[in-house]
Amino acid sequence: MTVGCFVGFVVDIDKAALAFLSLSVAMFFLIAIKNFKFSTKTKVGLIYGHLILLFFPFVLFTTDFACGAMCMSCQNNTIALVSYSLPTALVLGTIAGFAVIPAFYTFSSRRHTRNKEIMAFVRKYSSLLNIRMPKIYIVDKAKPIAFSFKSFRSAIFVSVGMLDILSKKEIQAVLLHELTHIKQKSSVLKFSSFLMNVLSPLSLLARFHHDTSREENDADEFAIRVQRTSKYVNSAKRKISKVQG
Ligand SMILES: [Zn+2]
Repeated sequence: MTVGCFVGFVVDIDKAALAFLSLSVAMFFLIAIKNFKFSTKTKVGLIYGHLILLFFPFVLFTTDFACGAMCMSCQNNTIALVSYSLPTALVLGTIAGFAVIPAFYTFSSRRHTRNKEIMAFVRKYSSLLNIRMPKIYIVDKAKPIAFSFKSFRSAIFVSVGMLDILSKKEIQAVLLHELTHIKQKSSVLKFSSFLMNVLSPLSLLARFHHDTSREENDADEFAIRVQRTSKYVNSAKRKISKVQG
């Protein structure tokens, strides 16, 4: 095998146009999901479409590259490339969908809290931390979960299950913990999370990422400092882990 054919790798107009078209439609789907009132089912379909079209150009160019590297005739043959790339993009998009869709359901079941006490508490400590007050959402889930999400405007999500099992002081500990995360993210991830949000609902996954243990410690530390005791941070953790088994 020679590498002679490999040198012939070019981004020709066919591939470039296909890639551009694919990404454009992917972005259109994303804008549609964000801005139009579709049924949840339609939105899920659009998320799959978005992901598949997002993967397609990358698979296309990788396949072309591989064909060239292996001196196969599919190199620069647009029809052959598409027929090889499409199934791969479908598989990748579907796999990514499995990861993204649950996050989407959580996200779409959110509603604003009307709890004035929580709002006032978050407002007070947002200004103390010198961050813009995040939106507070209640997620309709029995599982006790809380997370923060930094986007154009940051938000804290707390599940109904969490509010059910925690006392007022414990909920405040959780809120202080999440506020610290928003503070951390606003300084470190400002640009990257903005980019991710613009590019893909894959960014929904970002909030499920485990924060580093140092960030976790700092978040707990802040709650402990404000409350002047580790009692509520610890009892909240105990209750959550007990329910989660
Ligand atoms: Zn945390």
